[in-house]
Amino acid sequence: MTEKDVLYFELLEAFQAGGCPLCRLGQHASDSYLDALIYEGVTDVRTRAELRDARGPCHRHAWRMAHKRGSVLGTAIIYRDVVNTLTRTLEESAPAAPSRLFGNRGGNLGKRLAATIPCPACRLEEAAEERTAKTLLKHLGQEEIGAAYVAAGGLCLPHFQLVLGHASESATRRLAGWQATALRKLRDELDELIRKHDHRFAREPITEAEGDSWQRTVAAVVGRDEAST
Ligand SMILES: [Zn+2]
Ligand SMILES: [Zn+2]
Repeated sequence: MTEKDVLYFELLEAFQAGGCPLCRLGQHASDSYLDALIYEGVTDVRTRAELRDARGPCHRHAWRMAHKRGSVLGTAIIYRDVVNTLTRTLEESAPAAPSRLFGNRGGNLGKRLAATIPCPACRLEEAAEERTAKTLLKHLGQEEIGAAYVAAGGLCLPHFQLVLGHASESATRRLAGWQATALRKLRDELDELIRKHDHRFAREPITEAEGDSWQRTVAAVVGRDEAST
């Protein structure tokens, strides 16, 4: 299989799993990175240096890593490095240190404590999102992509906007049509869910699709819940 085929089927499978494929594949990329940190150990010198410079993963990815099963040793090693770096920076700024370190008062020290590179997990996530956006645009003409797009409930709003940023005029028109179809379906399901909450219609059973439409709608607007599988 060529790389193009791999990316295409990866996209199709992500659609078939339901919800925004950019969210799913982006989170898959950052999760693989965090899993590798935990399970393969933080032995690579470059990875260690990168994590030190980034002051560990960002808030979202740090906690995602810390909540993973078996994360104790990997997390401890990463943060031992980070804390050591912070401690050294503070020690260098102790009263005996040259006054140039205190130029701009606390601001200078504050900057020296801050991360100098972005979160590596975020970077991988963004790269996977970009890759998926381009794969989608490349295969818009394929019938099964259109069907899968609508059946999945479309893209989340932030990722729809990301894809539009790369789209031609005709691609934009096609995507807008698919996205509107997906959102109309969600809106209809929400209408039914709301209606059936009225005691006069409470005897009518809520379908499975209506039952989780409210959660799928939150995901459609802000992106996938990271706690979902
Ligand atoms: Zn998304
Ligand atoms: Zn991050």
